[in-house]
Amino acid sequence: MSPRVAGSGNNQVRLAQLVGITVARVIHLFDTAKGAVVPLETREPQKVSMYVCGPTVDGAPHIGHGRMTLVFDVLRRYLEWSGYEVHHVSNVTDIDDKIINRAEREGREPADVAREFEALWWEGIDAIGVARPHDDPHATAWVGQMVEMIGALVERGVAYEISDGVYLEVSKVDGYGLLARQSLDSLQAGARVDANGEKRSPVDFVLWKKSKPGEPTWPSPWGDGRPGWHTECVVMSLGLLGDGFDIHGGGIDLTFPHHENERAQAVALGRPFARHWMHNGFVEVDGEKMSKSLGNFANLIDLVRSTDPRSYRLLVLQSHYRSPMEVTKDTIAQARQAIHRLDAFARRTADIDSSPGSGIEPDPALISKFREVMDGDLNTAGAMTLVFQLVRTVNQSLDIDDLAGAEPAVAAVRSMCQALGLELNDEPEVVPDDIIAMAEEREAARAARDFGRADSLRDAITGAGWILDDSAGGTTIRRA
Ligand SMILES: [Zn+2]
Repeated sequence: MSPRVAGSGNNQVRLAQLVGITVARVIHLFDTAKGAVVPLETREPQKVSMYVCGPTVDGAPHIGHGRMTLVFDVLRRYLEWSGYEVHHVSNVTDIDDKIINRAEREGREPADVAREFEALWWEGIDAIGVARPHDDPHATAWVGQMVEMIGALVERGVAYEISDGVYLEVSKVDGYGLLARQSLDSLQAGARVDANGEKRSPVDFVLWKKSKPGEPTWPSPWGDGRPGWHTECVVMSLGLLGDGFDIHGGGIDLTFPHHENERAQAVALGRPFARHWMHNGFVEVDGEKMSKSLGNFANLIDLVRSTDPRSYRLLVLQSHYRSPMEVTKDTIAQARQAIHRLDAFARRTADIDSSPGSGIEPDPALISKFREVMDGDLNTAGAMTLVFQLVRTVNQSLDIDDLAGAEPAVAAVRSMCQALGLELNDEPEVVPDDIIAMAEEREAARAARDFGRADSLRDAITGAGWILDDSAGGTTIRRA
């Protein structure tokens, strides 16, 4: 039996059972490399280093990008809320075939295309409330280090030069296929055969592309050219987060070949790479995978300009991050309604002060329940179910003027929303004049004991999306 490492999750639980103490819970996440939900065991206590693959800026961000950034934003916020210090790095690929091709088509400089779409990227990301990464390395600023790493791979005899570039010889890498969860043989059988026939195997991938006339270039020992995409991310992640960083993430379409090939370079150099691999599911529109290469992407910018962007965050939260997520006009509209309910809750409870020192603390049993749900592979859908249950319970308490009973639950909901990055709006809502007029007419009808008229006015107000709350202090109007 192999010795147990001191401080491992199992030991902590055993110790807790023996001495009857409570230990801090540990978040469990699905690890693509292991194919199982496992505890997140970090390189350093209470610190998480996380590299999330960013965009290639050759077009507007699509809603799949939006989902990916939201999933990792929620992970980051939840970890921070749980007391971790998070170092979040996400790159910008500002040199790539797709950028060069677009520039050629439009008669522009590649750098100009990259600048335009990077600005659009941040516009979309900021609008959905994703916290900017602490570092956003641009591939073009790291070419020197990439050339160095490729040189080290050539020196070790695991990379070779052919007429159009330098390639990694995949058969020399231990455990290639770990993320794809396929053997090298089956990957080789499925790979496209190289047109010029110089590659030693069809799965060998490019580290350095020799440039064609007119393309942006950097000098290297193998002639002018540019780095391959897989080399960009391995160099920048190790460069900023160091060996054995904690989480490498991205959309599930990046698992193979991109992440497999990043990992292969680190393994070939004998450098410990990501401890944990995390991938989110696709966005589907009418059951079809959303990907730029299929050309069916809906633009994230259009989405955030046409609806309350918080609706999209809520939709993402209400899906499990590993499941496919369907985005339609209806699902967005439903999420928007749900945001209205949460805002109404925020307004109704705006007078409850739960700030530090106020004496009102989040109900510990509710917070513990929330943690339990979230620590089980970031089950944000379960967390949102809990939030909406609490909102209903608090509304019921307030309906019977049980303020003291509601306060710890209100504080708990606020804390949960903070952990999920869900900002609620407690600004008083502007009620349209015609709704106010109907409410006043209803008051008059009630005073005149014309209850039939009063009821039909209430129905009309409800039908228009507003709710009347009658209490001893008078009637208030809020959005349904
Ligand atoms: Zn990447």
